[in-house]
Amino acid sequence: MKELLLIPGPTPVSEEVLSSLSRETIAHTDDRFVNIFLSANQKTKIIFGAENAFPFIIAGSGTLGMEIALTNIIDENENLLVVSHGFFGDRFVEIANALNVQVDHIKSEAGDRVHPDEIMRKIKEKKYKAITITHVDTSTGVIANVEELAQVVRRESPDTLIVVDGVCATGGVREEFDKWDIDVIFTGSQKALGVPPGLTLLAFSKRAIEKRKSLKVTRTYYGDILKWIPVMEDPHKYFATPAVNMVYAIEKSLSMIVNSGLENYFKKHEILSAKVRAAMNILGFDILAKYPAPTLSVFKYPDGIDDLQFRKALFQKGIVVAAALKELSGKYFRMGHMGSITEDELLIAIKRITEVVETLKGNVNKGEVFNSFLSAS
Ligand code: PMP
Repeated sequence: MKELLLIPGPTPVSEEVLSSLSRETIAHTDDRFVNIFLSANQKTKIIFGAENAFPFIIAGSGTLGMEIALTNIIDENENLLVVSHGFFGDRFVEIANALNVQVDHIKSEAGDRVHPDEIMRKIKEKKYKAITITHVDTSTGVIANVEELAQVVRRESPDTLIVVDGVCATGGVREEFDKWDIDVIFTGSQKALGVPPGLTLLAFSKRAIEKRKSLKVTRTYYGDILKWIPVMEDPHKYFATPAVNMVYAIEKSLSMIVNSGLENYFKKHEILSAKVRAAMNILGFDILAKYPAPTLSVFKYPDGIDDLQFRKALFQKGIVVAAALKELSGKYFRMGHMGSITEDELLIAIKRITEVVETLKGNVNKGEVFNSFLSAS
């Protein structure tokens, strides 16, 4: 039986994407590769809703995207506001500290999100050069209302640069970089885009690039967007060797998503998340998030189910889910339902979870569980 990787990234990789990885590696300056790279760049703009932005595809994980975002737009001792809905929002504080940036941090209770008024109050009090918003925090499953928050920032402080972490959102959730007037957005290849880990995809606004140009130094060499812009415009040019086979894979996946309709892909995530949550609810698992993302769920264990026992029993049945992070660990677990995953695969996962719950806790009304999965939309 095929193992189902239902952690919130990396996510399962389709046969088509896997086989694109195994194509022969060719020169990174070869016209054939250049065309694939340009196509991937163009589709990166589509998934971010970023027609007017500069796209980048760079080898490295999502954390590199976070670091590239900050090192290119904020100088030492400038003020940064971090809006956090969990562990990954908090990571911006650590990066800012490493870069000697002055950071203020607004954090919600686990599962909740920061109220726009709180952000308004902060930006009225102090001038921030940039603000970070994590679109979906993978530790809590909370989705931020990026559009609303961006409006607040633009209204109160038009020059503040807006950075959006789309790592657990992009592709699975609508993002409108141009319309929402965002300055930097990034994601990783391994989440809703269904490609193995290894690439970060980014988009920068003209305003963000101007800010980079105004910095005397960046505290990055590999991550300096001014070094990458010529390559992204014409991949015949060399700065650092691109991850050729990973670019094949991301181009393949982005083409499949765009060709079958980005709207359909968003819808698929909405529907699958509703199905999983409906079935899990019957099984006694509530979600942590008050504002749940369509890409993953953080489920609370009902009484009588032990975290390690549950995840081990599920693993033995070929379903891999993730532990919760930090203070949530032991009480919750995390399950991804994003990327190339299908309804049939998720139904199998629900069946295996039902079996495990039965073993650990006793009888379950299976019909009700499966019907709720099938009828939810
Ligand atoms: N931001 C978010 C929202 C994430 O979920 C993750 C990874 N889970 C990261 C950043 C960091 O990405 P990576 O692990 O690829 O470095």
